[in-house]
Amino acid sequence: GALALGGCGGGREGTADAAAAGAGDGFADDAVIGVSLPWLGTQNWAEAQEMFTTRLTEAGFEPLVQAADNKVTQQQQQIEAMIERGAEVIVVGPVDGTQLGSVLERAAAEGIAVIGYDRLIENTPAVDAVVQFGSLRTGELQGQSLLDGLAARKGEPPYHVELFGGGPADPNAPAFFEGAMSVLQPKIDDGTLVVGSGQTEFTQAATPDWDNAKAQARMDSLLSGFYSAEEIDGVLSPNDGIARAVMTSAQQAGQETPVVTGLDAENESVVSVWQGQQWSTVAKPTVELVGRTVELIQSLQQGEALPEPDEEVDNGQTDVAVYLLDPLVVTQENAQEVFADDPNRLQLLQ
Ligand code: BGC
Repeated sequence: GALALGGCGGGREGTADAAAAGAGDGFADDAVIGVSLPWLGTQNWAEAQEMFTTRLTEAGFEPLVQAADNKVTQQQQQIEAMIERGAEVIVVGPVDGTQLGSVLERAAAEGIAVIGYDRLIENTPAVDAVVQFGSLRTGELQGQSLLDGLAARKGEPPYHVELFGGGPADPNAPAFFEGAMSVLQPKIDDGTLVVGSGQTEFTQAATPDWDNAKAQARMDSLLSGFYSAEEIDGVLSPNDGIARAVMTSAQQAGQETPVVTGLDAENESVVSVWQGQQWSTVAKPTVELVGRTVELIQSLQQGEALPEPDEEVDNGQTDVAVYLLDPLVVTQENAQEVFADDPNRLQLLQ
């Protein structure tokens, strides 16, 4: 049956097990909607901040949009303040997927619906839905794109590559890596890919806090440690910021540009892909993710049951209803087509 979300506005039983509750009574059409973003360090989050503010206002709500500078305590406090302000829904992109249990359980107990945005919320029953681009799928696309780029640009195998992951607190980061490794591990096993450093575990590849400077420093030491005699052919990068950091490092070491993957279709990387430097990025349009989230909020406002989710994911405490959008690989070859409806990015392709 359709997933029914607990409603808000005080009509609901104080239960954290929102997914088991019936369709709610809805709430005022000018309600306060809280949005707590993890940071603004990559373009997607800055876009989300702007688009949530615009879209929620257009829909008649009162948006309260904040970002937490990658600090767990700051995010907990921001969510507390949203509860105090009487928010009916709180949308959260967690800094750390596992650290919001108690504050979100407090929100749920007050009948506030909680929607995870882009990132999974882990280890708490107090999450009603998650909206994201499939994270495993995103990683698979990155892994496959690395292989495609190596074949297109670097001749015959074996290819010498290194692997980068994102920030370990972000539940997306291990999922992106796992998706990518499902494609790459067989190619490591059969000798097509050689990871010079031998660093193939997520914990070795991760980039604390998604910090580009830390990725660049790791790339510098990989290059000086393992590639003084050898060219590096390719790098799995989990997003565009890290992709550019890796390319800068290679350039400074006097290496030819390796095949590098990315994520987010950030402006600078769209230009780089278009000019033939960064091999690819993966587009996960913020406009679609925000749009889908606002639709769910409108259903809740009306007191309707939410649509059937695309999948249910065990977050350690409950099966979370996940709504999935499709990520898309962007290369020089298809960029014009992919951005046909995105004037901001289209104008970068000159
Ligand atoms: C998002 C990416 C982003 C990264 C760092 C991830 O959770 O899915 O789009 O690049 O966080 O901000």
